[in-house]
Amino acid sequence: MKKYLEDKIFQIISEAADEQQQECYVIGGFVRDIFLKRASKDIDVVVVGSGIELAKRVASKLGKRANLTIFKNFGTAQVKLRDLEVEFVGARKESYNRDSRNPIVEDGTLEDDQNRRDFTINALAICLNKSRFGELIDPFGGLEDLKNFVIRTPLNPDITFSDDPLRMMRGIRFSAQLGFFLETNTFDAIARNKERIEIISKERIADELNKIMMSRKPSVGFILLEKTGLLELIFPELLSLKGAETKDGIGHKDNFTHTLVVLDNICKHTDNLWLRWAALLHDIGKPLTKRFDSRVGWTFHNHNFIGEKIIPDIFRRMKLPTNEKMKYVQKLVTLHMRPIVLSEEEITDSAIRRLLFEAGDDIDDLMVLCEADITSKNAEKVKKFKANFQLVRQKLKEIEEKDRVRNFQPPIGGQEIMDTFNLPASSIVGEIKTRIKDAIMDGIIPNEHDAAVTYMMQIASEFGL
Ligand code: ATP
Repeated sequence: MKKYLEDKIFQIISEAADEQQQECYVIGGFVRDIFLKRASKDIDVVVVGSGIELAKRVASKLGKRANLTIFKNFGTAQVKLRDLEVEFVGARKESYNRDSRNPIVEDGTLEDDQNRRDFTINALAICLNKSRFGELIDPFGGLEDLKNFVIRTPLNPDITFSDDPLRMMRGIRFSAQLGFFLETNTFDAIARNKERIEIISKERIADELNKIMMSRKPSVGFILLEKTGLLELIFPELLSLKGAETKDGIGHKDNFTHTLVVLDNICKHTDNLWLRWAALLHDIGKPLTKRFDSRVGWTFHNHNFIGEKIIPDIFRRMKLPTNEKMKYVQKLVTLHMRPIVLSEEEITDSAIRRLLFEAGDDIDDLMVLCEADITSKNAEKVKKFKANFQLVRQKLKEIEEKDRVRNFQPPIGGQEIMDTFNLPASSIVGEIKTRIKDAIMDGIIPNEHDAAVTYMMQIASEFGL
């Protein structure tokens, strides 16, 4: 164990704790991550006694290299050294009342402190005092659970989750992040205590959801959210994608399953959280637009536009950012059908220019989304779709090099139109601008000022000018 604590900082904490005659342990995520061989820069140190006093001594030993911050209200302190952040906190015992996840806190022993931890794998502690340096204290079999990839609460899971229901989200998030299984009793207790999630702030839930989104295979998290019943409470729109109806012998695919495959697909190609959200929400308008037509079967007309419209409600309610990040997600959701339609028809330059104009700099992300959206199990079909998208990509490149419409700015502004024809600001000015833009998109004229002026003069008579 000692070999994992080679960093000088642990020697210094050890000396300082011995000088103060305080029992001291490194605990929680840092210890877990040692065994999982995950790099971790956040070190939590528990002291039986005052965390602040120990932090002060550690900081003074480190001198100018270190930065000490004291959080008097919480009785904790942080020492920053290079890219390491060490939190010092006194061992505590917690008790909860029903309406709040904020416990009543008293000083306690290491055992008390380990009892209040959320999962066995997060309750591991390593002693830092010299006489026991490197000794692992594992009262709940956390190491065994790490070996077996198991998430389990140290104590009665019903009490653990009811005390602080955020732990239900954390458990599911760890399953997704680490690829672990929720032990049966732990899983059942989440299902039983799901309603308790109502005392957790939307922001904290969103944080955990975003961590699930950033894991290698987020479907693991969403499937657990669905199976435990939490999804219905925190994200009903996503749950309503679930189910495959059949009428007159015609079925449609389960859009929940499909969405999760698309999400997992896209995660292999991007770490952009918001592109991942676009994948999760690309079909979110489907339940609202679902119709059955005896001639054509199931349709979801305009589900992309409806999806775009409901995203702000979802983001607002879930306390996700309602800024340019949301607009980006909306834009990708609206446009996600376009490259598909394009690849199915003959790919005209005009259609490519319009797509470039509307997607702007997000065109590459849109193509990544569309490729992730190919979930057919028919290998022939997949091959064909991929080849078609390759063609669309090729065309996009050619047209962009030639016409530069990706960040299109009209070559003639409203003022120039008004000056040329001596017009006041009016709807005619807008119509002329649209005609010029359409002519460029359709390849009638190049994206240049002189050509636009000549074209404007040609069409002037149509406007009685
Ligand atoms: P990550 O850094 O990936 O979020 P972590 O386990 O380090 O993982 P932190 O939120 O930094 O997570 O928490 C540090 C430790 O504090 C955890 O390992 C766990 O022991 C304990 N902990 C955190 N939140 C809770 C909670 N809600 N209930 C009980 N223990 C918790």
